Amino acid sequence: MAEPTEILREKVAVSCRILAMEGLVDDILGHVSARIAHTDEMWIRCRSPEEEGVRYTTVDAIRRVDFDGKGPHRGEQYQVPNELPIHGEIYKKRPAVGCVIHAHPKEALICGITELEFRPIFGAFNIPAMRMAIEGIPVFPRSYLVNRPELAAPVIEIMSEKSICLMKGHGITVTGKTVEEATVRALNFNTLARATLRVAQTGRIAPDISPEDIEKLPDLGSTFNDTWVWRYYVRKLKEEDLRIGFEK
Ligand SMILES: [Zn+2]
Repeated sequence: MAEPTEILREKVAVSCRILAMEGLVDDILGHVSARIAHTDEMWIRCRSPEEEGVRYTTVDAIRRVDFDGKGPHRGEQYQVPNELPIHGEIYKKRPAVGCVIHAHPKEALICGITELEFRPIFGAFNIPAMRMAIEGIPVFPRSYLVNRPELAAPVIEIMSEKSICLMKGHGITVTGKTVEEATVRALNFNTLARATLRVAQTGRIAPDISPEDIEKLPDLGSTFNDTWVWRYYVRKLKEEDLRIGFEK
């Protein structure tokens, strides 16, 4: 059953603030969207005249638009992201995707421009991140702004059915069935990128963990990642919002 649309809208705002709190997005760049079930519309993080950055995203900045960024609910004072086609074109082509995140995290940026390879260099430390390395991260080799549908098409083609794309010299695009899944996936990928970069900075070569260890590591499942980990970040965000005096 689809969740009530206002709850989904609130989750998009929460995801934006979590990603900023965790350093995946800086200042005003980066956006989250969620497909509104049984429609050709999405909630997407827009900019208002009072724009103060992704960390301070309020629910009113999450606007309902169609996959081309249009429609009667956008609100004249809100500006859709320049890179809205990343979201809209993925929803058009991949019906199972319910959430799209586009961000410009720094460690992933450095990994991309230095062409560092993502390998399973750790195991139980973060099993989903290890699996991402094994499954492979598609890299989109161009660094342009994806501000037209035809510019999104090659990104989506390289991404194929994968849930993450590293866009060289630009950022990342992450998908999920739900906001929770996509958000935790983006955070896990960031862990992989950070570890990969820090290992490279030591000048040492980290070997892959053994196939035997990889085989024994369990799939932790959706409850572990998309419920518990998500809840942890929601709680951390609440405490952090309180500490900085941010009011939604
Ligand atoms: Zn971008």
